[in-house]
Amino acid sequence: MVSRVIPVDPFDLVIFGGTGDLARRKILPGLYRRYLAGQMPEEARIIGAARTEHDDAEYRGIVGDAIREFNDTPPQDGPLEDFLDRVGYVMIDARGDEGWDDLASRVREGAIRAFYFSVGPSLFGDLAERLHRYGMANDAARIVVEKPFGHDLASARALNDVLAQHFEEGQIYRIDHYLGKETVQNLMAVRFGNMLFEPLWNAQYVDHIQITVAETVGVGGRGDYYDKSGAMRDMVQNHLMQLLCLIAMEPPAKYDPDAVRDEKLKVIRALEPVQPHHIVRGQYAATPTEGGYRDDVEAPRSRTESFIAMKMHVSNWRWAGTPFYVRTGKRLRARTSEIAVVFKDTPHSIFGPEAGGHRNVLAIQLQPNEGMTLSVTIKEPGPGGMRLIDVPLDMSFAEALGPEAEEVPDAYERLIMDVIRGNQTLFMRGDEVEAAWAWTDPIIAGWEARNDVPKPYDAGSSGPEDATALTARDGRSWREIKS
Ligand code: NAP
Repeated sequence: MVSRVIPVDPFDLVIFGGTGDLARRKILPGLYRRYLAGQMPEEARIIGAARTEHDDAEYRGIVGDAIREFNDTPPQDGPLEDFLDRVGYVMIDARGDEGWDDLASRVREGAIRAFYFSVGPSLFGDLAERLHRYGMANDAARIVVEKPFGHDLASARALNDVLAQHFEEGQIYRIDHYLGKETVQNLMAVRFGNMLFEPLWNAQYVDHIQITVAETVGVGGRGDYYDKSGAMRDMVQNHLMQLLCLIAMEPPAKYDPDAVRDEKLKVIRALEPVQPHHIVRGQYAATPTEGGYRDDVEAPRSRTESFIAMKMHVSNWRWAGTPFYVRTGKRLRARTSEIAVVFKDTPHSIFGPEAGGHRNVLAIQLQPNEGMTLSVTIKEPGPGGMRLIDVPLDMSFAEALGPEAEEVPDAYERLIMDVIRGNQTLFMRGDEVEAAWAWTDPIIAGWEARNDVPKPYDAGSSGPEDATALTARDGRSWREIKS
């Protein structure tokens, strides 16, 4: 199977925050891999921009080091040099005026121009305003903004407003890197490209849905940021919400940015407020050898959650009464991101009670290995009567597509190329983000009003006991967290 790599049009990509962690770990190595894949035209230019003084040569050194450190395979000198020839640097302060004329002179007329705001959101307004003032915000310009997009509805609205003063919505690319994953797009292909699933994709046939995003790491060096955010703001409001939308949305009339985003927005607006007893918040506790969450964030009385589990409901005809159990947390048993669609039991078992209960489950794995498995019930081979077992029909890319699957671009690579191509399907629209905050804000306000304290859980576990009870109360159980 040969995958087609279509080079994008010539572009200038300016990375504000081009020396930062995100640029070095994700954006620059991702661009290098797209160059290796033949997707980057000869005329493409990448310009790093930040306050620290560097000339082009020094910045190329930084970029080369980042690619050596963060690319999975060590780069070869020849291709790396060739890639670095496209890289330059401008010293700029988002809040000052130095460097902006220089940047404006480097951005070429006639090429696509993309400005990646890989800086804190407090600088978004300054950058947008200066891009406009220095004549770079033309119709071919597009801006890419990173999470967090706001801290609540009011701040998200303020960010949307400030960006809208200088750019049309069609020029604003709000990144949620979960949407760039191959499997997330494959989910849409499976749902809307097959006759098999969609007729069953509703409350009549689906018992419940589980979405799990589990990490083994703690808050690491991000304690300061994380403690002001917590799992709800950091993960649920954006990533888990987006995954839920793709599972729950109606078929869009066509695979086009606004058609897809209109349907996602309807899902968010159909979300019921979550009852307090349908939410479990947790915080990882200290072990004999390692500190707990409160040690990591250096806040002995912190009430921020590093784990959350919730039962959610989408209030519409398709999903009435079907629970969506979502959970995410840090320092859990394994690193995994999985969506599981658990179908109902057959209405009647012709095999009798001794055959046991069996259910079809479509499990969509986003990490560590992307793929899908559909469990089906068959007869256990051999003599001895009709005993039933569940076997997985493995739809993982590695099996089906062979070595080509290894070359699937990572989320950032794909999304950056989508920016250059001008395809917003996998980016969040402003109204989606606001709707997600409008649903999230009252929940957080409720915790604050009640002085809610998260339940401690053991590092390396599946989260607090209460999370187990959340599904057990309904006669269901969480899927095992395993990688
Ligand atoms: P970082 O490591 O602190 O880097 C910040 C970058 O911005 C540096 O290049 C810094 O360089 C530059 N900068 C800071 N103030 C500036 C100013 N006034 N004018 C121009 N440049 C300025 O941060 P990061 O981790 O890369 O994160 C960047 C953004 O991405 C943040 O919004 C973060 O929330 C988001 N994000 C990061 C990750 C991640 O994995 N790191 C993941 C998701 C989202 P100078 O100090 O030289 O100016």
